[in-house]
Amino acid sequence: MKAMVLHGLGQPLKLAEVPVPKPGPNDVLIRVRACGVGLTVVNLIATPGRVTSYPRIPGHEVAGEVVATGAEVRNVKAGQRVTNHFYLTCGLCRNCRSGRETLCLDPRGNVGAACDGGYAEYIVLPERNIVPIPNGVSDVDAAVASDAIATPYHACHKEARVGPGDNVLIIGAGGGVGIHMVQMARLCGGRVLAADIGDDKLALAEKWGADEVIDARRGELAQQVKTLTDGSGADAVIDVVGSRQTLAAGIRALAVGGKLVIIGAQPQAVYGEDPSFLVDPLYFLHRGLELHSSRYVTAAEIAQTLELVRQKRIKPVVTRTFPLVQVEEAHELIRANATAGRIALVIE
Ligand SMILES: [Zn+2]
Repeated sequence: MKAMVLHGLGQPLKLAEVPVPKPGPNDVLIRVRACGVGLTVVNLIATPGRVTSYPRIPGHEVAGEVVATGAEVRNVKAGQRVTNHFYLTCGLCRNCRSGRETLCLDPRGNVGAACDGGYAEYIVLPERNIVPIPNGVSDVDAAVASDAIATPYHACHKEARVGPGDNVLIIGAGGGVGIHMVQMARLCGGRVLAADIGDDKLALAEKWGADEVIDARRGELAQQVKTLTDGSGADAVIDVVGSRQTLAAGIRALAVGGKLVIIGAQPQAVYGEDPSFLVDPLYFLHRGLELHSSRYVTAAEIAQTLELVRQKRIKPVVTRTFPLVQVEEAHELIRANATAGRIALVIE
């Protein structure tokens, strides 16, 4: 089969002809039809310690058709259209058994890092990672839903707990995760203040439901939020960027009792800058602020996200697609921060 293969930390991917992988007893073999491309995979390739061995096939937002299953697989059948969960978990620890599988105490790494991913014609995944795609949801939409839409579902619903009328600031609103965060926060009843840099990203955020757009280059972010909220600030700040500057600005932009939700992270190994930020405990305490980390989603939440896409209450925003062999071109656009919305590979 054809695959785009990573041979070392941060290296460009190379097209190769490799054997179709064989499923173990608890695994599923999938013919890949689409694979999302985002900042997570670009950072993962360049961050020491994430990819466990080389050569490795990256890609973790997969959609395709099951072609074979292992002898112990019970709930997945050949011919089924499926997408996947990104984390390789134990399924047995306290957190896995209490619906907090992204906090697995015995994690085995990530798809596309600790096992081969979806930048290939076929992929093998554990049955536990499989999520069926409902009829009426396309392969590209399902692939993107498994991370770029599901992550906002968890962030808005479980961490920011966005409710009707809440002012929600989204930092990095025009990117692949951000543009779906805009839609999800609206769906939860929030008034969305979408912050980003660049006219195309802000225009996209407005198109997909932002009530206000904030160009972070035009004045201090927190001040712009205060102006748009009659001085009170945002009930929730969801930071998809996660730099020292955006996190510090996010805290300053919070209303009394507000929640800062960290989604994005800029690893020092990739960006060259320490993203740590300072918190004044007295300011935090007096204002009753909350700091949340939003760690991906459960497989059950991916299924719920796919249902939202099927109901057309969330629209996947895929602005460009590429064939498998052009994945480096797609990665380059992401490194240059030159993509609005999500991009995806379509694998014929
Ligand atoms: Zn576990």
